[in-house]
Amino acid sequence: MSLRAPKGTDDILPPESRHWRRLLRLWDDLVERYGYELVMTPIFELTEVFARGVGEATEVVEKQMYTFADKGGRSLTLRPESTAGVVRAYIQGGRSGVFKGAYSGPMFRYEQPQQGRRRQFWQLGVEYIGEEAVEADLEVIEVGYRYTTDAGLADVVVQVNSIGDPPDRAAYLMVLTDFLEAIHGDLSDDAASRIATNPLRVLDSKADAEVLVDAPVPTDHLSSETRAHFDALLAGLERREIPYELAPRLVRGLDYYNRTVFEYVPAGYDAAQSAVGGGGRYDGLSELLGGPHLPSTGLALGLDRILVALGDGVSEPPLDAFVVVTAPARRAVAWQLVGSLRDSGLRVDAVASERSVKAQFRAANRRDAAAVVVVGDEWDSGNVVVKVLATGQETTVAVQHLAAQLEQT
Ligand code: AMP
Repeated sequence: MSLRAPKGTDDILPPESRHWRRLLRLWDDLVERYGYELVMTPIFELTEVFARGVGEATEVVEKQMYTFADKGGRSLTLRPESTAGVVRAYIQGGRSGVFKGAYSGPMFRYEQPQQGRRRQFWQLGVEYIGEEAVEADLEVIEVGYRYTTDAGLADVVVQVNSIGDPPDRAAYLMVLTDFLEAIHGDLSDDAASRIATNPLRVLDSKADAEVLVDAPVPTDHLSSETRAHFDALLAGLERREIPYELAPRLVRGLDYYNRTVFEYVPAGYDAAQSAVGGGGRYDGLSELLGGPHLPSTGLALGLDRILVALGDGVSEPPLDAFVVVTAPARRAVAWQLVGSLRDSGLRVDAVASERSVKAQFRAANRRDAAAVVVVGDEWDSGNVVVKVLATGQETTVAVQHLAAQLEQT
């Protein structure tokens, strides 16, 4: 049997990869405009980074990490997310003050694979480190909203909640634990087993949604300061015209969040399965990793899931033009033409070896070029024939106007 990619991983090839290229570019352009600098951290980290950063009792750390010992006996883990690594890098780099970083890359979680839930998946994220102002939360939420909308998702709604600061949470967790213990028998085994270790996670257990409708929620237990932060967040979302819904039971799966948490859900999708991204504030994470107090906020979007939500739209042709040459004597000038069109910013290719005109046209079709440029007898009078492949329409164009003409095709 021939070898296959591991379960839950994907080869991303054309034509699907054309959507990926478009969306990766869109991301880079957007975050650069918002002032986020590129940050790249290792694909694997010491396991402790995630155990401490993400939290021992979280599902990600308990069940989903790819952890292995290297030849030096260190325990390493393929990153299941990037926030802990970025904050580790900030601390290690001896930085101080505000840092706005953006990343894009593969993450790894041992999950039961299905559509939009992969073992290797791609996250796009930003981290706004060292800023406690609510404007930072708002900007981060806006980046994700703008991105998902610009990518083509219709009617994205941001689900928001506040889970308070650690003192709010301590008081709230007592009330929540009492409530959960009282309904212990009605909970699923998985939820019941989490009451002692991570009661907050029980709250957003989809399997137990019905018995949890009357559960106390974090926003009923906010201090006046965290309440004011949350109110300012909601007012800011209104001001920025970002559609949102209150989601009082949203807590998110990673331990490091405080105050703001949010998720993006495209219209018509069930929030349980189809958040295409999310994030929140994580003021305590740096200290968990041995750094200073560092109020921060961030988001991660799942590119695999955004693509599932977008469906199989038609991709743009990957080439503006494919140059076909009718006589071997004109191959040299045809390649010069390919070069000058590429220099003018167009995406252009041609067959490398000597082939019949028919075979070159077949190649142009196979490559999904928008147009074919025929270098034939007209060349001697300064012209080429341009054939638009989608319509079959042919026109004779003067070589000096060719680039401008192809840009409009
Ligand atoms: P999280 O880091 O768990 O907050 O996830 C943020 C986003 O990453 C989610 O909303 C998903 O879009 C995406 N994501 C998380 N886990 C997976 C996975 N196993 N496969 C595909 N996308 C994922």
